[in-house]
Amino acid sequence: MTSDALARPLRNLRISVTDRCNLRCAYCMPEEDYVWLPNGEILSFEEISALVDRFIALGVRKVRLTGGEPLLRRDLPKLVELLAKKPLEDLALTTNGVLLADHAKALADAGLHRVTVSLDTLKPARFVALTRRDALAKVIAGIEEASRRFAKGLKLDTVVIKGLNDDELGELLAFGARVNAEVRFIEYMDVGGATLWSREQVFSRAEILARVGDAEAIVEDSTAPAERFRLPDGRTFGIIASTTAPFCRTCDRARLTADGMFFTCLYARSGTDLKTPLRAGASPAELESLLRGVWSARTDRGAEQRLALRDQRAALFRHEELNGDPHLEMHTRGG
Ligand code: SAM
Ligand code: SF4
Ligand code: SF4
Repeated sequence: MTSDALARPLRNLRISVTDRCNLRCAYCMPEEDYVWLPNGEILSFEEISALVDRFIALGVRKVRLTGGEPLLRRDLPKLVELLAKKPLEDLALTTNGVLLADHAKALADAGLHRVTVSLDTLKPARFVALTRRDALAKVIAGIEEASRRFAKGLKLDTVVIKGLNDDELGELLAFGARVNAEVRFIEYMDVGGATLWSREQVFSRAEILARVGDAEAIVEDSTAPAERFRLPDGRTFGIIASTTAPFCRTCDRARLTADGMFFTCLYARSGTDLKTPLRAGASPAELESLLRGVWSARTDRGAEQRLALRDQRAALFRHEELNGDPHLEMHTRGG
């Protein structure tokens, strides 16, 4: 197993399979125009599979497919089929759910273990205001289909924004119970892409707990980002407090973009190009040595450093900076 400079192993890999998206969430893609990764730069499924083998050799046991919107990538079940043959404990997908009703069966048949769907509101008009697309009914249908196809591990991720959807926590928990999914409330993060971020709009872990009411913490030995809680009726939910209570100390997550850039932190300014050596014919040992070198030098604590800024904290990048390097965008890097 490979550990970084702070003794954190490399266990989790998030693969962004496309930077394109069919929604425009206000906390992720609020702008009118974006610079996209060129098509010729996008890794093929065979290239992704070859890189995943190298990551597995270094200790990765959990893979999550994300994006952009991963279901926009044509033939995604074929990639799932390739990855499902590998020695992974967990093979998951994060999606906005718009296309999930059409693809859930093929993904389950291909061997995907579980699905997380992002769902911020159950109100159609609010969904349009938040995402600039009228697609809530499709998302709900996608979640219902996923609930049928994936008996275990369905999660609903909600970014909670003050004054936007913090009044819906109870309804979202009730909906989660109906579709047999655990809801996770995520604090609004000042990641690249969140050009409208402000401290005032963060609805914190403490505020979420106060709003939900009587919940007890579930004690777990886990490096997962979500803290879990139980309500008096037995329902459980999670909170991902990346903004006010970050968990960098146990972070075992790496990210691979659709064009083969390897990032060791969501907030990292730069990454390592894996596509060029891969396409130049680097051997498995050479690629592993490259990955090992990067991971063992890793000291990232991005969210903790952001927290230390206190009231100086504001949006990480302006739109012009993001246009200069789309790899800084959350929708490129993969959430
Ligand atoms: N498009 C897919 C989706 O929305 O599920 C996958 C990619 S998206 C970048 C992954 C996750 O990042 C989503 O759950 C989204 O809510 C979250 N995300 C994006 N911007 C965020 C922000 N500023 N703060 C917190 N979470 C954010
Ligand atoms: Fe929303 Fe996900 Fe698309 Fe970002 S990538 S705009 S979070 S659906
Ligand atoms: Fe890991 Fe970076 Fe997120 Fe901290 S900010 S939890 S180091 S990805």
